Amino acid sequence: MMIAPIDAPRVTLDDLKQAALVDLAALGYPSAAWLGDLPRPDAADIADAIIVGGGQSGVTIAAALKWDGLRHIRVLDSGAPGAEGPWLTFARMEELRTPKTQVGNEFNVVNLSIRRWFETRYGQQAWTDLPRIPRTDWKAYLDWYADVFEIAITNHCDVLDVAPEGDLIAVTTRIGGRIEKSLARTVVLATGYDGAGAWRVPLFVSEALAPEKFDHTNGPVDFDALKGLRVGVLGHGASAFDNAIKALEAGAASVDLCFRRARLPRTNPHRAVETPGMMTHYPELSETTRWDIARFFRSVDQPPPLRSFETAMRLENFKLRPATPWLR
Ligand SMILES: Cc1cc2nc3c(=O)[nH]c(=O)nc-3n(C[C@H](O)[C@H](O)[C@H](O)COP(=O)(O)OP(=O)(O)OC[C@H]3O[C@@H](n4cnc5c(N)ncnc54)[C@H](O)[C@@H]3O)c2cc1C
Repeated sequence: MMIAPIDAPRVTLDDLKQAALVDLAALGYPSAAWLGDLPRPDAADIADAIIVGGGQSGVTIAAALKWDGLRHIRVLDSGAPGAEGPWLTFARMEELRTPKTQVGNEFNVVNLSIRRWFETRYGQQAWTDLPRIPRTDWKAYLDWYADVFEIAITNHCDVLDVAPEGDLIAVTTRIGGRIEKSLARTVVLATGYDGAGAWRVPLFVSEALAPEKFDHTNGPVDFDALKGLRVGVLGHGASAFDNAIKALEAGAASVDLCFRRARLPRTNPHRAVETPGMMTHYPELSETTRWDIARFFRSVDQPPPLRSFETAMRLENFKLRPATPWLR
């Protein structure tokens, strides 16, 4: 470990960026461009790759493709600049659930890692003392990472459709009220949870109640408006606990957190997937095995993060209600 002398000038995040770029250059980044222009008049407008989603997957994939020598990469995101992914919008926990030692997107380049970023910003001791990565720091790190790779995200851009067009792929977007079509040689969907279907409020709630009487945790919640009110939370996931905490901190009279199971899950099966064997070889497992794993996760589920659970349980007027399904 290198420890800077006390009177050494403090390293800034810009210095770290330069150090990361030196490392990347030593490893051959960026590779020489290897795709020639297509023989058509609009070749300059055709992206090598369009990545839908500027969250952590989108920027990491963009970085990897750039390293591989793709030049014309576009990253599109429906969120506002700096609000890609859940981190600064509807994620309301203090810290990530993922262990701080989990690695991946830094491609084994230490100066690209969250650890170096955190140590540069807060000092080595702060990292040693850190239990888990603070949510807002994770997003700040991702923004810095995108900056290192000069990944510009086109924001407020909804991708409405992706369809084959000859040998290319047409991506239909809406920016403001404007509908546009762009062509790409390949498209990557990195749309996170948004791409997994739709956020849904059970119909027996949305059809029975006026819209101002309920919220989904994936949207803006006016916590101040809950002051003095009794609040019911349906579900026992991380967001259920985090939103219960926010409601009570904002002065809600009480929160009843209700769920169907007889007891909260106690162990997190996802931790088993974070082993190197699984992280490396998971895609090689058969579809049936992967399906079984997904089904297993769905059936046993995971507990809320310990910090959210303990914070909620300490709050007066928070009640945990297992075996309490909502029927109507
Ligand atoms: C409350 C909460 C806590 C979480 N905590 C953790 C954690 O501790 N550790 C962990 O590993 N994971 C956690 N997750 C899961 C987390 O969502 C993912 O790990 C991470 O965000 C996945 O990154 P991603 O890039 O795949 O997707 P996202 O970060 O969700 O990014 C997807 C992006 O795609 C954009 N997008 C989607 N559809 C379109 C479209 N049609 N057009 C344009 N743009 C689109 C979205 O705006 C979004 O910015 C948490 C999730 C939530 C909600």
